[in-house]
Amino acid sequence: MKEKLTVLGSGVGVHGLPYQKELRYPPGYLLEKDGIRILLDCSEGMDTRLTSLGIDYGSIHTVFISHFHPDHFQVANLVFSSALKRRHENKSPLKMRIIGPIGLEKNFWAIWNMWWKSSPNSIFGTLADLEFVELSDKDTNRLNDQAKLTGYSVWHDHGKATALAVKIEFGDGFIFSYSGDSSVCDGLVEAATNANIFLCEASVHIGEDKTKESGHLNPFQAGQVAAQSGVGNLWLTHYWGKDKEKQMIDEVRKGGFKDNVHIARDFDVLPLK
Ligand SMILES: [Zn+2]
Ligand SMILES: [Zn+2]
Repeated sequence: MKEKLTVLGSGVGVHGLPYQKELRYPPGYLLEKDGIRILLDCSEGMDTRLTSLGIDYGSIHTVFISHFHPDHFQVANLVFSSALKRRHENKSPLKMRIIGPIGLEKNFWAIWNMWWKSSPNSIFGTLADLEFVELSDKDTNRLNDQAKLTGYSVWHDHGKATALAVKIEFGDGFIFSYSGDSSVCDGLVEAATNANIFLCEASVHIGEDKTKESGHLNPFQAGQVAAQSGVGNLWLTHYWGKDKEKQMIDEVRKGGFKDNVHIARDFDVLPLK
C-alpha cells in the first residue's frame, strides 16, 4: 500500500488513567502519498515508535508541527536521534524541513540550546541541514511540484496558543486535512473544506464543552465541523479512551455527519482513498 496514513499516536498527553484500557501514545501521523512523506506532529518517543514499525526514522525529511504543546512538539528530539543515527550509518547529514506556526525556529532552538551549549555542528560534526518554514494564517508551502500544504490559524488553549490546522492538496486533487488541536472555529472549517479525509481531534469527553477553555472538540463538534466542511471521511483521533467508540460515532452522527467515520488507533495503517 503506497498511499497511506500510519497512526503513531492516537492518544493525548496523559496516560495510565484507570479508565484508559489501552495505551495510546501522544500524537504523530506519517502521511505517505505521491512521493511525499510527511510526519504530522511529533510527540516524544517518535523514533522508537517508527522503529517498532520497521520505519527508518532517520529517513523522515519533512515534519509539520501544529503547535508548541509538549504532546505535539518534540521534534528537537527527533532531529537529535535522526542526525546521530545517520552519522552512525555513514549516511549524508540529516536534511529536514520543519513546517509550523510563527515562532517555530525560535522555539526549536530554545529547546536545543537548553540541552547543548554549543552549535550542533561543533558537537556532532556536520549534523543536520534544517529548514524552518513558518506559516501565518493561509500561508502555503509547496511539498513538491504537485502538492502544497496550507496552514490555517485555529483557536486553541483559551485562544493563547499559536496553532495551525493544515490542508494538504495533492496533484490528483486529493485533499487531506488535519485539525491539530482546535476548538470549533472558521479556520478549522476552512482547513477541512472538501477534504477527502479529515483527521480530526476529539479529545473532549462526550457531553463536555471546552470550546472557550482548553479549545478542543468533542465528537459531536467534530461531526458538526465535518458536515459543514463537506468532508468525505472523518477520522477521529487525540482522544482519552474514556468514551466507547460506538458512542463517539453516535455523537458524530448527531453532529450531522453522515459519511464514513473511523476512530483511529495506534499503529493503524489507513489507505488514502
Ligand atoms: Zn494543544
Ligand atoms: Zn494535544
